[in-house]
Amino acid sequence: MAYDDNNIFAKILRGEIPCNKVYEDDHVLAFHDIQPQTKVHVLVIPKGAYVSFADFSEQASEAEITGFFRAAGKIAKDLGLNGDGYRILANTGAHGHQEVPHFHLHLFGGQPLGRMIKPPRV
Ligand code: AMP
Repeated sequence: MAYDDNNIFAKILRGEIPCNKVYEDDHVLAFHDIQPQTKVHVLVIPKGAYVSFADFSEQASEAEITGFFRAAGKIAKDLGLNGDGYRILANTGAHGHQEVPHFHLHLFGGQPLGRMIKPPRV
């Protein structure tokens, strides 16, 4: 799948639409989800143009991958989530129900999250 420059996170990265920013560095931007599912719901995205986790894990440089995951851990820590814990999730592709085609981690926390996910029955 080719990267779509008009996806909403690309527009946020270009500053064309606002976000409620939590963190930014050379490789990473993090901001609050516009429709939070939990008390803390932050999205962590790479600045590079990667469609999905599959694309990022194959194509990103070592510096981007290391920077991304170090930043994600720091963001969770700085949000005060390390004590009680949290969940990270990367919806990927059609079965993963990924809506925005720019790789992102969801960071959920601030409350008990229950056990794993509830997929539709097969
Ligand atoms: P996904 O289904 O994993 O692609 O999730 C996309 C997420 O992006 C959803 O949780 C949306 O609420 C969130 N989202 C969409 N537009 C924005 C926006 N402009 N600012 C912040 N979050 C957004």
